[in-house]
Amino acid sequence: MAEKVCPVCHKALTVKEKGYPMGSALLKADRVHVDIYECPECKRVELFAAESDLVKCPKCGNLHSAKELCPICALNNGLDAANR
Ligand SMILES: [Zn+2]
Ligand SMILES: [Zn+2]
Repeated sequence: MAEKVCPVCHKALTVKEKGYPMGSALLKADRVHVDIYECPECKRVELFAAESDLVKCPKCGNLHSAKELCPICALNNGLDAANR
């Protein structure tokens, strides 16, 4: 993975948050995950599309954030529970 560098002072950015879900309240079906980086020098915050925090669901093969359950399996589990 290439190092993220502050465009202003060219210091290496530090990770603040990985795989942060953006717009989850409004856009449930179309969630975007971002990695949030901060410059230790000027406190500038940079957002990048999350690249390293995705895991592949062993059940259905869906890619999702490691921080949350697989949305497809969660949905299927919910349907199973409703049918019982
Ligand atoms: Zn900076
Ligand atoms: Zn799944």
